[in-house]
Amino acid sequence: MLGQRPTLASLAEREWDLIVVGGGITGAGVLLEAARQGHKVLLLEQQDFAWGTSSRSSKMVHGGLRYIAQGDVRLTRDALRERERLLRDLPGLVERATYLFPLRKGKFPGRWPMTAVLSLYDFLAGIRDHRFVSRRELLSRVPGLDATGLSGAMSYTDALTDDCRLVIRCLLEAARLGGESLNYARATASRRDGDRTRLTVEDRLSGEQAEVSAPVVINATGAWADRLGGAGPDTAPRIRPLRGSHLFVDPTRLPVDDCLTVMHPRDGRPVFVFPWEGVTCVGTTDLDHGDDLDLEASASAAEVDYLLELINSQFPDAGLSRDDVLSTMAGVRPVIASGKPAAAGKAPSKERRDHAVWQGDGVVTVSGGKLTTFRLIALDALAAAGLLDARAARRARRSNAPLFRPLPEAPLQVDQFLHGVQDDDALIRWVLENEAVVHLDDLLLRRTRLGLLRRDGGAALAPRLRALTGDILGWDEARWEQEWQRYQALRERFYGVPPAERAAA
Ligand SMILES: Cc1cc2nc3c(=O)[nH]c(=O)nc-3n(C[C@H](O)[C@H](O)[C@H](O)COP(=O)(O)OP(=O)(O)OC[C@H]3O[C@@H](n4cnc5c(N)ncnc54)[C@H](O)[C@@H]3O)c2cc1C
Repeated sequence: MLGQRPTLASLAEREWDLIVVGGGITGAGVLLEAARQGHKVLLLEQQDFAWGTSSRSSKMVHGGLRYIAQGDVRLTRDALRERERLLRDLPGLVERATYLFPLRKGKFPGRWPMTAVLSLYDFLAGIRDHRFVSRRELLSRVPGLDATGLSGAMSYTDALTDDCRLVIRCLLEAARLGGESLNYARATASRRDGDRTRLTVEDRLSGEQAEVSAPVVINATGAWADRLGGAGPDTAPRIRPLRGSHLFVDPTRLPVDDCLTVMHPRDGRPVFVFPWEGVTCVGTTDLDHGDDLDLEASASAAEVDYLLELINSQFPDAGLSRDDVLSTMAGVRPVIASGKPAAAGKAPSKERRDHAVWQGDGVVTVSGGKLTTFRLIALDALAAAGLLDARAARRARRSNAPLFRPLPEAPLQVDQFLHGVQDDDALIRWVLENEAVVHLDDLLLRRTRLGLLRRDGGAALAPRLRALTGDILGWDEARWEQEWQRYQALRERFYGVPPAERAAA
């Protein structure tokens, strides 16, 4: 288990085969696969684990219908195979879900093109799950959906997860295989020294600095990859940071049982409306992110308006407003830029979403890609780092061995989608004891999602949480107050609902 946070000094004394920078799904996947191969490996994360994009995705473990529509059959096939594997190995944390794609007369896409695409999609996954849903059945399954021109829907299946818990699950599994990880530890510089890469690391809790070294470093810092990965004054940035935001909506105001893909009336972009952890999630947007990457990404007022406009056009009687939004969540996609400057280049939604690996001086950078394909991305990165030869990489790609073993010592929910049992005391106790919680926001925004899913942000649970954090983490009154203030400020600023912008006079 992740247990007590090790000291940076103790980690710096040890010999490593590999150091991974970045504690999102990519880094966690690399740590897990490297540990599985028997390497001595350390992962460093500058904030909390999954603080970056990997707690802010659309939570879909999927092949990606858009990729197949764009002709990227290989990416779709790989992702679908990984989806099936994760459904098998993490039942409860990765769950099959029904997706409905409403069809409207005279609007793209029609029933038969969709049937052809979905037949291929299912074929690549080795299942047969798609079917046509009549208009009548659709309207009874999705009450309130705009019936104008509706001819029915295509139904198929993909999967949903909690992305942050998936990251933590990889870290826990890696820990069982000897993989070490440290949160709140930022790599500030790297240099090649003979046959080793030396990283200067700052412990952001104690302020302590230390140097750790290994023959190779894998930079898995996602949207931050250019900082450590060699984009310097003479090299163009490789990453085009694109922001996507979601709304978590009161489920009594917008109840849905299936994942709907609906088209935005303004620009025709597909947007998902889906049930997640007991609330309704709506997203995403897709736009260039020019904000400071050192701050958490947050949804703008214009994005909230855009998503509310979508809901109210698809559910004309819903009359949804900001009051119905419980919280927002924004993430930055580490998309590998097509090369041209953003203004002159492709529209954000047209950029490719697959990953890339490139080499610097003793640093292998891996960025882009998807949550779903984290294992394959990890294998590519390890091969580029010389830690996996071509044959072993091929074997690992094809291997059908289970990726995760059960956690018999943990409460059942640790290995599950939390399904509204998030305030279960035994679960919270286990998380506090075993999942490297440093701040209250780690617990309320990521390990559990109480801060996003409850209108009060978990305030009703505060007395119990205060007792548990005192008991397990040794927090006194002053520390609790400080943590509560910090959590409230972060929640309001980065996960709140920004007020509508007033039109210019
Ligand atoms: C809106 C949105 C929706 C998405 N939906 C889906 C989806 O439904 N399904 C899917 O498969 N994919 C989805 N994706 C893509 C997926 O979420 C990302 O590809 C994935 O999470 C990227 O993971 P990562 O580990 O590379 O990056 P991150 O999760 O961002 O991790 C990088 C980490 O590196 C850390 N870091 C940075 N610099 C340093 C440093 N110097 N020292 C130490 N640590 C550092 C950061 O703090 C961060 O935690 C979505 C992405 C977005 C933005």
